[in-house]
Amino acid sequence: MKIRQALLSVSDKTGVLEFAQALNAQGVALLSTGGTAKLLRDAGLAVTEIGDYTGFPEMLDGRVKTLHPKVHGGILARRDLPAHIATIEAHGIPTIDLVCVNLYPFRETVAKAGVTLEDAIENIDIGGPAMVRSSAKNYNGVAIVTDPVDYAGLIDEMKANDGALSLATRFGLAKKAFTHTARYDSAIANWLTGLDANAEAKPAEAAPTPSIFPSQLQLAFDRAETLRYGENPLQKAAFYRDSTPTAGAIANYTQHGGKELSYNNIADADAAWECVKTFREPACVIVKHANPCGVAVDTQLLKAYEKAFQTDPTSAFGGIIAFNGTVDVDVIEAMNERKHFVEVLIAPAFTDAAMALLNAKANLRVLTVPLPEGASPVYHALEMKRVGGGLLVQTPDAFNVQAADLKVVTKVQPTLSQIADLLFAYRVAKFVKSNAIVFCGNGMTLGVGAGQMSRVDSTRIAAIKAANAKLSLAGSVVASDAFFPFRDGVDVLAEAGAKAVIQPGGSMRDEEVIAAANEHGLAMVVTGARHFRH
Ligand code: 5GP
Repeated sequence: MKIRQALLSVSDKTGVLEFAQALNAQGVALLSTGGTAKLLRDAGLAVTEIGDYTGFPEMLDGRVKTLHPKVHGGILARRDLPAHIATIEAHGIPTIDLVCVNLYPFRETVAKAGVTLEDAIENIDIGGPAMVRSSAKNYNGVAIVTDPVDYAGLIDEMKANDGALSLATRFGLAKKAFTHTARYDSAIANWLTGLDANAEAKPAEAAPTPSIFPSQLQLAFDRAETLRYGENPLQKAAFYRDSTPTAGAIANYTQHGGKELSYNNIADADAAWECVKTFREPACVIVKHANPCGVAVDTQLLKAYEKAFQTDPTSAFGGIIAFNGTVDVDVIEAMNERKHFVEVLIAPAFTDAAMALLNAKANLRVLTVPLPEGASPVYHALEMKRVGGGLLVQTPDAFNVQAADLKVVTKVQPTLSQIADLLFAYRVAKFVKSNAIVFCGNGMTLGVGAGQMSRVDSTRIAAIKAANAKLSLAGSVVASDAFFPFRDGVDVLAEAGAKAVIQPGGSMRDEEVIAAANEHGLAMVVTGARHFRH
């Protein structure tokens, strides 16, 4: 379909002048609204103002610009129906073949500090979405362009096809256009339904910060890929990314070889990546079935890897490994020496030589993910979990324990090196499914007890795992992700050889628990914040 007349009306004016010039060069007549028309005219382009075209001036501070039968008739008339063509001809309405629109910056406006309700309301675009939807509905006769990224490609297609755009291109543009307006309305709905009920009474005052939990939650994700299957082969699955990317998140991965990522790979990669990001010093995290089975920090990634592997070599087989720094050949060679079979390997970067070694492994999925900028980990906006008929939404667990959070509750004080290990153990415990018990020493996990219904059983399992790996728990430190409801948990971990304990505290029987720690000659610190993870 040849493009003869185009209407351009954009708030984000990126690239629009070049686009209009290229359309003009192909003989397309240009219509435009106030601000856009001025930009084009100032650059010497011949453009008809929409008010001159419809015979009605833009009015009501721009609230009514393009809402006119001459505009919407020219867009919506079905080109394949003679009756429609006869109708627009009878009213002197030419067809509009290409509409280029992007909407008032609502999201940007409400993100500004001190925004008033009035500002927000005035940034709700009316005529723009109407044109986007009219054009998208009638993609059979109209090309709707909502994203400056598409300008160049469309011009290329027109040049190659005597000024025409194909039906396939127009259909693709229409899908994108409906997504554009859906997101726009979602942003409005989320913001407005996050405001408290009194906000509407004071339009000129700064609007109160809306709740992060709007009363109607509209979500926006883009399908990144369909996966071979879900958690099990009979389940179908896909991976969606946040429409607004989250810095430092696993979703920003680039794959450098290996087999396709599976549903379980992505879930485990997320667990490993979120955990490894917690540490500032060189760290290695090995995850199996969503739980860390080996975590370590050291002065170099190689040492961190060797220690993390040692925690549980049996479980590490077929695991997912994440590093928080550039991985070099030494690390890959250490993995090869151990015949360590890995499903996914994740790091912010690999040296060229390391990548060359990895590329020799046909099946290994190698991912790079940019680390978030700044010293502290970045947390995702909201966490969500689907339950039957609903969705649980929460802010992420952003507590990352620091030395200043610790309160010693026992007669015995922890040593400086115990404090370092206690902090490490508690940071790891945050990523272990509850009930979590994590024995550590010398910057590495020595035994991890995960996902048990009883804390005592988690402790026993962690001790068994340490014994299996021939690691001694004598003199170790231990973290518990939540308080000890009874003294029995403390008895078991003292028996296992721990000398210092970190836990949130806050049990009804804290006194009994602390007395038990004193009896065993343990040092115990409390953090005040638990790390349940389900
Ligand atoms: P301009 O900068 O060209 O004056 O305005 C461009 C913006 O106006 C675009 O974001 C477009 O979506 C919007 N727009 C176009 N027609 C109408 C209308 O009739 N009413 C409203 N409220 N906005 C419109």
